[in-house]
Amino acid sequence: MNAKVELSGLVLLSLTPMKIYTMKQKSIFSIVILFLLFLWIPSVKSQQKLQRPKLVVGIVADQMRWDYLYRYYDRYGDGGFKRLMNEGFEVKNTFINYVPSYTAVGHTVIFTGSVPAIDGITGNNWIDQNTLQNVYCTDDSTVQSVGADTKAGKMSPRNLLVTTITDELRLATNFHSKVVGVSLKDRASILPAGHAANGAFWYDDDSQKFITSTWYMNELPDWVKNFNAKDEPAKFMSKDWNTLYPISTYTESTADNVPWEGTSKEEKNPVFPHKISEFFKTDKGLIRSTPFGNTLTLNFAEAAIDGYDLGSGNYTDFLTVNLASTDYVGHKYGPNSIEAEDTYLRLDKDLASFFSFLDARIGKGNYTVFLTADHGAAHAINFMKAHKLPADFLQTTELVKALHDGLQKRFGNGNLIVNDLNYHLRANKKLIDSLHLNFDEVKAEAVRILERQPGVAFAADIPNIGKSAIPEPVKFMIANGYNPKRAGELIIIPESGWFPSNGKGTTHGAWNPYDTHIPLIFMGWGITHGHTSKTYYMSDIAPTLATLLHIQMPSGNVGKVITEIAK
Ligand SMILES: [Zn+2]
Repeated sequence: MNAKVELSGLVLLSLTPMKIYTMKQKSIFSIVILFLLFLWIPSVKSQQKLQRPKLVVGIVADQMRWDYLYRYYDRYGDGGFKRLMNEGFEVKNTFINYVPSYTAVGHTVIFTGSVPAIDGITGNNWIDQNTLQNVYCTDDSTVQSVGADTKAGKMSPRNLLVTTITDELRLATNFHSKVVGVSLKDRASILPAGHAANGAFWYDDDSQKFITSTWYMNELPDWVKNFNAKDEPAKFMSKDWNTLYPISTYTESTADNVPWEGTSKEEKNPVFPHKISEFFKTDKGLIRSTPFGNTLTLNFAEAAIDGYDLGSGNYTDFLTVNLASTDYVGHKYGPNSIEAEDTYLRLDKDLASFFSFLDARIGKGNYTVFLTADHGAAHAINFMKAHKLPADFLQTTELVKALHDGLQKRFGNGNLIVNDLNYHLRANKKLIDSLHLNFDEVKAEAVRILERQPGVAFAADIPNIGKSAIPEPVKFMIANGYNPKRAGELIIIPESGWFPSNGKGTTHGAWNPYDTHIPLIFMGWGITHGHTSKTYYMSDIAPTLATLLHIQMPSGNVGKVITEIAK
């Protein structure tokens, strides 16, 4: 800005009518201009020092539907979600742009600006199409657990095929920037923090401690050991889970005891107070499906900021925080439960205190924070049925049997196409060739059979999807989600509200807005208060951050910059 003003000043001087001056006056004038120019160059240089925030904090609230911002708005305090909305910039129509909408996939797309077809993370698990092995997204047999005796730490970002925005920050600053990932879930800590992170930490149920792997380090840092020594999980679980406010005030949710809510292993009914102090004795991972898992994670995130001195050096640091308990609570009780409402009201308070911590440590206006989600969630099927809304149980076993029988009848062999994973099916090319059948014809017949089954809206032979009559918005999500090495080449798209379920709680994974409309709010350094209702996608987050930070976008980026935020 300053450079422009001074430059226009010079232009004005040179535009001054020259003919009224003598030659001598002219040369004096030129010397003055040269002198001014001389003064101007160093001053511009010092004013143009690159501006970046001290710290970026990327918060991903697992399974947070966008509408939770508004559904509980009147019950939130001023310092948490409302502070983000009232001080920050909200992108109100941010959507996931691929299927299936699962956890590992979402975290990867947020931090890579890519899609599964390119970044390789096609599910929490996938079937390797060459070996036919079931692969967990962050499994890595070549590394060891650090901080645990179990296999829980044999994890790394090895299967992620592209760089993350956090990797790019490290690259851009010759690895001076520090990057740390934090979550209860291994995948939600590792994938956001990227390949070149200083550390990624996750929670081990058996030892009830935060651990890592030899991908990052050979020993836990002292600050992690100190945090683990405090034994916070046991303290949280020593009290039962009651509602934060009188239960009669939870008017945005169903009654406490409804048949479609799940329970803890030894719990009879899904009602408050949840006797977690008792159930915790036999269920070591129980903190995950209580709001206290989020509190624990944010406490650990604060310890990470202090432990690594994040935001205190000359380079921008990046902390990724996944709040996983919203997901576990959502799966168990569903989006309309008092448990879900209470979890968000408690998270709101935890976020307020986390933002106050950041204000105190890093300074208000010195850090950029953004909040989003890896996916949303469907309403519980029987909740929908109780209100005459469209939803039902997708019977996958019957579906696969119908396909088998149909192929058997037409081609004399039912195993030409088999179930894969994540709504995908796999064509057995070897078998099809050995029977001298036409590959595309077999797949086309499978699509026809599948599309006639209850609960199936569409089926597609993905390499030939251009020829299908599936509406464009769904078609492009299918193509974005398809990686030939890590997914079968056929897919089914369920009808709205249909998914496989045992009738308790809910899940996610579909293309529909209930699973794919996610919150997205930026706040702090570089952000002007406001909002946009324009449609953006999850893969637009990373390139927007790249533009804000003046660093290269990740290597598999297909997203576009949200120009209302990063101009
Ligand atoms: Zn998730």
